[in-house]
Amino acid sequence: MANEPNDINWESAARMELEPDAIHESSDGYYFDCPECGSPATIDNIIEEGRCNGYLNEQVEGIDFDLENVSCSAVLRLEMAYTAEPESET
Ligand SMILES: [Zn+2]
Repeated sequence: MANEPNDINWESAARMELEPDAIHESSDGYYFDCPECGSPATIDNIIEEGRCNGYLNEQVEGIDFDLENVSCSAVLRLEMAYTAEPESET
């Protein structure tokens, strides 16, 4: 295993903007589609494990996706980007 979540150069990682329709809801919570293997990647697993459910072989309740034969090397991270107005001096 070359890719470990603690050993990633995130500067060179691919990034994608999250559109509203990229977010799916299941009875287990919200998830995205893994950009590599297409399996569900629940927000909990992205944040806590850095991996999709295909890698973790963890079925998402209510989602009809066969994780049995999924192999995935993607390491995942969620980011929140922001800018804010500088404090105005009055
Ligand atoms: Zn994956």
